[in-house]
Amino acid sequence: MYRGIKLKKKFGQHFLINEKIKHKIIEYADISKKDVILEIGAGIGSLTTPLCKNARKVIAIEKDGELVDFLRNVFSNEKKVEIIEGDILKIKLPKANKIVSTPPYNISSELIFLLLDHGFKTIVLVLQKEFAQRLVSKPGSKNFGRLTVMVRYKGEVELLEYVSKENFYPVPKVDSAIVRIVPRKDIPKLVYDDLFNDFVRELFSQRRKKTRKVISSFMEKKIGGYSKKIILPNKLEEKRVYELSNSEIINLFLYHTAKKDLTKY
Ligand code: SAH
Repeated sequence: MYRGIKLKKKFGQHFLINEKIKHKIIEYADISKKDVILEIGAGIGSLTTPLCKNARKVIAIEKDGELVDFLRNVFSNEKKVEIIEGDILKIKLPKANKIVSTPPYNISSELIFLLLDHGFKTIVLVLQKEFAQRLVSKPGSKNFGRLTVMVRYKGEVELLEYVSKENFYPVPKVDSAIVRIVPRKDIPKLVYDDLFNDFVRELFSQRRKKTRKVISSFMEKKIGGYSKKIILPNKLEEKRVYELSNSEIINLFLYHTAKKDLTKY
């Protein structure tokens, strides 16, 4: 319970209660009076209040109707705060230039991909520690995988600092981390975006195999009869999948799909 509101576990309701950390988040997002901030999962408004003090406007999305009533009450006299009741994964995203939030952890992946495709300038999120570590892991490490490649293909990611679970109420089971993502403006145009997704998925489903083998079988599956004697760009394909870096994966994809007729995908 929080001030008469029954908290709902399925909505991942854990409220940030440490003022210092709230202010660090504001600093990491470099918020000024020019910024319109989108906040996902405003909860009881713990982050909404400092955001509103520093930004031009805050648009706060909240799925739980009870908390929406609570927030509307708290911010009834605050013109800079707009509260929208809804599910961030279903509503049309409002216009804002930055995202600053402590969203529920069970939607982390889906949320990040959604946000990366909407042209925000900066995204600062508090995420589950292990998830954050996957985003910044290095090629060759066990955490480096499809999530790492797909997110970092679309944005620059920094893990700024860890936040221990005692800084939330009620205390969750896991620790957190503050992450900043700056979406890239110069994303290589892959044309076959879905195919790239499948390509990365296929690679990491066989991460210990030689890259050449995985790519040949992938291309055969996708376009049929792909030559087994493929020319290896810089011998990249002699590496095992888990040894490849992000840019190597993108290059391999471009190399193998550039001249093919893949319009049917
Ligand atoms: N930012 C607040 C609350 C964090 S808890 C704080 O730090 O104190 C996460 C919040 O997201 C909860 O209030 C939960 O109700 C809300 N939420 C959960 N799923 C959501 C969704 N799909 N869309 C919008 N809000 C969601």
